[in-house]
Amino acid sequence: MFGIFGHPDASVMTYYGLHALQHRGQEAAGIVTSEYDAQRERYRFNIHKDHGLVLSVFANSKILTDLLRGESAIGHTRYSTTGSGDSRNNIQPLKVNFKDGHLAVSHNGNFTNTMELRSMLEAKGTLFQTTTDTELALHLIAQSDQKEMTDKIIDAFSQIKGAYSICILTDDKLFAVRDPYGVRPLAFGKLEGSFVFASETCAFDIINAEYIRDVQPGEVIMIDRHSLSSGKETSFSIGQAEKFRHCIFEYIYFARPDSLIFEEKVDKVRRKLGKSLAEESPSPQADDDEKKVAVINVPDSSNTATLGYFNRNVKDNKNLKHEIGLIRSHYVGRTFIQPGQDKRKMKVKTKFNTVRGVINDRKIVIIDDSIVRGTTSKLLVELVQKAGPKEVHLKITSPPVVAPCYYGMDFPSRDELIANQMKGDIGGIRDELGLTSLHYLSFRSLKESVPYMNPKTDYCTACFTGEYPISINGLDKMNKHQFDD
Ligand code: SF4
Repeated sequence: MFGIFGHPDASVMTYYGLHALQHRGQEAAGIVTSEYDAQRERYRFNIHKDHGLVLSVFANSKILTDLLRGESAIGHTRYSTTGSGDSRNNIQPLKVNFKDGHLAVSHNGNFTNTMELRSMLEAKGTLFQTTTDTELALHLIAQSDQKEMTDKIIDAFSQIKGAYSICILTDDKLFAVRDPYGVRPLAFGKLEGSFVFASETCAFDIINAEYIRDVQPGEVIMIDRHSLSSGKETSFSIGQAEKFRHCIFEYIYFARPDSLIFEEKVDKVRRKLGKSLAEESPSPQADDDEKKVAVINVPDSSNTATLGYFNRNVKDNKNLKHEIGLIRSHYVGRTFIQPGQDKRKMKVKTKFNTVRGVINDRKIVIIDDSIVRGTTSKLLVELVQKAGPKEVHLKITSPPVVAPCYYGMDFPSRDELIANQMKGDIGGIRDELGLTSLHYLSFRSLKESVPYMNPKTDYCTACFTGEYPISINGLDKMNKHQFDD
């Protein structure tokens, strides 16, 4: 998610921002701009969105220069967690016209009281254009009795529960809203006098924007013309939770290592996860006549944690070498993001290959971030085994995933998670994956490896514990495609 206010090349900046955020969603991309039509003395909203990667959706540069005119924009890369990924209507940003002007929304996360809000709005005669939870925000804002746009937004989000980082574009304002628990990241910055928001700071780096601070949990930031002249944002509150519940999985896997999220560098935390893993489960020793043990990363998601793991082992005088044993083709998306099992299998096969000379006749330690269904890990181990290693040890920088996520990460149902299928039997998972050994980082080490920047800082760890810090209001009994038909 990206937003910008007060820049002559708003759409181009958004395009680059989305490009840097491509790892957060690869199904579809879109940009909406607000343009002031001086002749007609009114605002016009321009939109372009489609299925595909940012590069292909905006392959024709005239879309950015001729269609998406205007000095304010919001953009989105989609990774569906509610509503069908196939539906064009579900691609964000979502845009409507209502009595007070235009409104467009980009959303990262998941509302958890979707069913109640949808029933309430349907009872009032609201017609839905999409099957996503995000559309609820548009209707709640448009139907609010409040007069001022800021009050309408505060009114709407006071009714919404769950995980959300949101950008809202109106004719002459840009808003950024973060849920009271701060589940998903949202950074605030400046660029040549304009204001920018992004899910991760890597989107600021690509356009040379300066990171100012995070949008705080429970904060609504409003940017308008006065902000441009004063250089200051206006801040409102929808209330802050007693403890923040940042998604710990952002540090383990989702965010890019060159980003800063929840006020800490992802690279630093991921190295720490690798270091903690080495302390819990050091590398096996090579026999005297053997080549050194090869520690290999699963590119790109475990690159940084592997360095942490390797460096800690070297410090402990282990005789091992960091090797590039897996080669990744960069021309396919990240696998577990893709919906549908068959696609996933094909993606793994097209995505990785092994370097036989590195792996053959050697003890191998593979570092990876997580095991969800186990499909990807199993196929990877099969690939590595074909290259003829002596032993394959898999070490994971997170505990077993045992519960689905209802806050914006597309995990499968409980039954499809390998840790549940094997009833928590790590030895069983090891055998199922064809490994010599398997180690998951303990929950305690995970919690000790992440930063606590603020007395209120804490984490959501529900996918590892099944304990949901924000009520999921029966979402576990609901199909994510419930509204698709
Ligand atoms: Fe993140 Fe897991 Fe919590 Fe979802 S359940 S928000 S993936 S920690």
